[in-house]
Order: sequence, then C-alpha cells, then structure tokens
Amino acid sequence: MSNVKRRTVVIGGGITGVTTAYYLQKEAREKGISLACTLIESSNHLGGKIQTAERDGFVVEKGPDSFLERKRSASRLATEVGLGDKLVNNSTGQSFVQVKGNLHPMPGGSIMGIPTQIAPFVTTGLFSPFGKIRAAADFVLPKSKVVGDQSLGQFFRRRLGDEVVENLIEPLLSGIYAGDIDKLSLLSTFPQFYQVEQKHGSLIVGMKSMTPRKAKNAEKGKAKGMFLTVSTGLQSLVEAVEEKLDTGSVLKNTSVIKLEKVNDEYIVHLSNGEQIIADTVVLTTPHEITQNILADYSFFDQFKNMPSTSVATVALAFPQSAINKDIDGTGFVVSRNSDYTITACTWTHKKWPHTTPKGKILLRCYVGRAGDEAIVDQTDDEIIKVVLEDLNKTMNITSDPEFSIITRWKKSMPQYTVGHKERVENVKEVMEKELPGVFLAGSSFEGLGIPDCIDQGEEAVKKVLEYIQTHSKELVEVN
Ligand code: FAD
Repeated sequence: MSNVKRRTVVIGGGITGVTTAYYLQKEAREKGISLACTLIESSNHLGGKIQTAERDGFVVEKGPDSFLERKRSASRLATEVGLGDKLVNNSTGQSFVQVKGNLHPMPGGSIMGIPTQIAPFVTTGLFSPFGKIRAAADFVLPKSKVVGDQSLGQFFRRRLGDEVVENLIEPLLSGIYAGDIDKLSLLSTFPQFYQVEQKHGSLIVGMKSMTPRKAKNAEKGKAKGMFLTVSTGLQSLVEAVEEKLDTGSVLKNTSVIKLEKVNDEYIVHLSNGEQIIADTVVLTTPHEITQNILADYSFFDQFKNMPSTSVATVALAFPQSAINKDIDGTGFVVSRNSDYTITACTWTHKKWPHTTPKGKILLRCYVGRAGDEAIVDQTDDEIIKVVLEDLNKTMNITSDPEFSIITRWKKSMPQYTVGHKERVENVKEVMEKELPGVFLAGSSFEGLGIPDCIDQGEEAVKKVLEYIQTHSKELVEVN
C-alpha cells in the first residue's frame, strides 16, 4: 500500500475542513500511508466563520468567540498545535433576560431555561404566577408519545408552558441557532432533553438529578465558566493548525464548482478551469454551496429548502467614562416579547477580560434572527444607531464608540428544522452507494458548535482511511 499514493480533496477551509486536512495528514504520516491531501478554500484565508480582529489592544471576535469546554475536541486540538497555555475560561457573573422592557436576572440553576432549583423560579419576575404554575405541570405531565422528531417549541411548550418558552428558553436557544423554536428539530439540537423526558418523565426532575453539585455555585460567580477561548483570538487556533499542514497542500482563492464521478475516481472542477483527480473527497462547505457542487445528483435536493439565517455581530469599544449607568453582569439575551432589535449583548470586557485594555469597555451585540433579518442589510451607521438606542434603554452610554466592528454573516446559521437528522442519514446512505468515498461534514449537518465541527472532521478522517483501506486494490496507482 505504501507505493500507492492516495489522493484526497477536502473542500472548504473553515474549522471543519482545516481539521479534516490536519488529522488526515497527521494520521497518514503516523501510519505510513502514502497520501496527498489537498485543502481547497474559495477565500484568501482559512477559518471560515472564525475571524478575529486585533485593534488598539482589543481582541475582537467577528464570529464565534468561544466553545463549550465539556466537548473536548476543540481544546484537544488547541493543545496539540501548541496553544494549550493560551486557553482561557470565561469569567462567570450574572446574566440577564430582557423581557417587555425589563432586565431580569437569569434564574439560578436553569439549564437552557429548564429549572433545576425551585426557589429562584418561584421568586423570579420573569414569569407570571400562572406561568409558574403551568411550568410546575412538568412534574405530573406524562412523557410525550411523539415518535420521531418534533420541534423544540412543541416539546418545551408542552412540558413547561408558553411563558417559560417565550421568556427564557427561546431567547437562550436563539443565541445559539438564531432560529425559530417552533421549527427547529429537537432531535438534531438537544436530543438529550428528549432522552431525559423519556427516562424521568419530568424534565425538571431529570435535569436536577443530572446536575453536578458544583454547578449550583456557578450562578454566584464562584465557579469557572464553562466556555473556553484562545487568548490570542480563535483565528490564532486556525493559523496554528494551518502551520502544521503539509507544505503546498492548501489552495486558497479557489472555488470548487462541481464534483464529477468518473469510474472509480472523482474529478474536482475548480473555478480557474483546472481539475483535480481524487480517490476520496470530503465536502465541508455550507449546504447551499454543497448543493451546487453536487448539482448533478438529485439525492442532495432534500437540502434545497434547508434555511439559513443571517446575523451580524456588532462590537463597540468605549472608554470606561462613556458608560454612566452600567449593569453588574456579563450580558443579556432578548425575548421576542421585547421591542428590541438586538437579540443579545455580551459585556465582553467582563466575560473575557483578556480582550480589553484596562480602562476600556467592549460590548458585543447580535442582530438578526429567523424571521427578523432585514437589519443585517442596513448600513453600518444605521445598525450602530439602532444598537445604541437599544443599549440605552437599560444603560446610559454618553458618547459614540471609539471604534466599532460590524460583521455581517449572510445566511450563515444553518437551521436544523424538524426531520433534519433523518434527512442527513438518508443522504449519507445514498452517497455511500452513488458516490462512494465522498463524505459530508460541517455545520450544515451534525452540529454547528466549533467542537461539533471538529468532531465531524475527525469522523470524516476515519471514514476516508477506512475507505482507502477497503478499496486499496481498486484504487489507481500513481507516481
Ligand atoms: P464555515 O466556517 O462556513 O467554512 C466553510 C468554508 O468553505 C469557508 O471558509 C468558505 O469560504 C469555504 N467555501 C465556500 N464555498 C466554497 C467553494 N465553492 N469551494 C471551496 N471553498 C468554499 N460556534 C461556537 O462553538 N461558539 C460560538 O461562540 C459561536 N458563535 C458564532 C457566531 C456567529 C456570528 C456565527 C456565524 C457562528 C457561530 N458559531 C459558534 C458557529 C460556528 O462558528 C460555525 O458553525 C463553524 O465555525 C462553521 O465551520 P464550518 O467549517 O462548518 O463552516
């Protein structure tokens, strides 16, 4: 097998593609497999949605700002590429929910809005007495008989009632998916909640029994935060991985326009008119792009109607003196029941102190969510005006920002609508037959968090290696 050079093309240089190329080249080196892996990226840089700006001593994340620590693949990757000593946890503190013009502290002990401590829920001003009684019905309601998938809204509204969903769960989930809770799939986003219901009946009882004791202190600001980032910015993670890639194995400023199967090989057609021949291909592009690349194959049509939401991040830097009335916390999310355009705001200087020079303040807001995306197309000045108006409903900001960075992410948040898991399984099954050796990975399919994308990249590497092993006799000998 050593004198037969295998050729793999990885399409898309976001975190999924970079990880796929990195682990594939590493495995090949370590196992003595002769393999040429080329990573093709349409833009002039790797990282996709991971982009960091450094300005006047600030570290500003334009896209994602951190990842969940408990999903280990991202911190493992960072450590492997030499950034272990740059991993930092977020500082914990009070966070809030904005509902109908009032900022309410997030009730202690809530996990994605599900109560695990009774007292904070009984005393919170977030819900009416009726809303609280309705939520308590969770203790006695039987588990759902729904077979297969259902929307997050259907699931949570049934267990905890509309108020808890609209004033707490929806704003929290919106912060992750920028989606419509009544359309998003339970099984593709939070299957664990379905399992908890099936096991315990009550979500509250089930989540409480699974919550480690130390989490109870988290709300008091004593425990370390559950997110990690790289102190030099997440882009430095991508750059560190890129440095480890084989020389000459990355093609930037080159788009893949089509994938064609010819006998046992694949022809990867590039925007510059050139072609690359491959034995195996990993597609990590967003599904709209993948759809175009696979336009000759009707099986991918089931993703034609998969929506993606547009959002924008708005980073605003101020001197401390510009904020006359501040709030003691790390940020807030906004309920759809509020007359706000921003959907969330992080006091980045408090949550991630390393990002902000002393004496300065860094706020990072989000605008845009499913059904409410027009704001993303406004001019920078218009967006800043609206964001400042919203912030000044609870704060008192007395001057314009020293600088602002607005980053528009058009159609960037893939929406896993009801039935998504089944669609992904179907497509993968058909691909195994119609395009053996071609694999899908990335945020459009099995998780959009950074660690989920890395996991998918690692899984794709396993599949490529298995495929190469199984088909070693059939593959063409080159060199
Ligand atoms: P992408 O990053 O989209 O990469 C795809 C790549 O393919 C791009 O580089 C693109 O240029 C390239 N490409 C496109 N077309 C072609 C073509 N024809 N040929 C070749 N290349 C092509 N996740 C977290 O874990 N924590 C967070 O805090 C967080 N916050 C987020 C905030 C925002 C604003 C956004 C948008 C996302 C956030 N996410 C977060 C989600 C996470 O950042 C993304 O899901 C993840 O980075 C996507 O990685 P990817 O490799 O799958 O896709």
